[in-house]
Amino acid sequence: MSAGWVFFGLGAVPMLLLTLAVLYAQFTIQCSIRIASKTHCPQCGSMLGRTAVLAAKDRYSSSISEWMKQNPGLRVRLEAPEWEIECPTCGVTVSFFPVANRTSETAKLTQKASPVIGD
Ligand SMILES: [Zn+2]
Repeated sequence: MSAGWVFFGLGAVPMLLLTLAVLYAQFTIQCSIRIASKTHCPQCGSMLGRTAVLAAKDRYSSSISEWMKQNPGLRVRLEAPEWEIECPTCGVTVSFFPVANRTSETAKLTQKASPVIGD
C-alpha cells in the first residue's frame, strides 16, 4: 500500500461521513417540508401548501443569518428552528417546528422558539 492510498483512505472517511450528513439533513428537511405543507390551518382548515412552507423556511434562514450578522461572536443554537408559515387562504401565521415536525399547538410546550444565546 503506497502513501498515496493511505492518504486517500484517511481523507475519504470524513468526506463520506460529511456527504452522508448533508444527505441526511436534506432528507429530513424535505420530510419536514412535506409534513408542514400537508398541515391544515387551525383557523380555516385549508392545507398550508408547499409554497407557503418554503417561504417560511426562507424567512427563517434569512432571519438567522441577519441575527448572526448583528451579533458577531455569539453562538446560536439552531436545534429548535421555528417556521412561521402564513396560511395562503386566511393569512393566519402557523408556527411549525421542523425538528418535532409539529405545529405550535402541541410543540410550543416542549420546544424553545427563538435562538438561545451562548451556552
Ligand atoms: Zn387559514
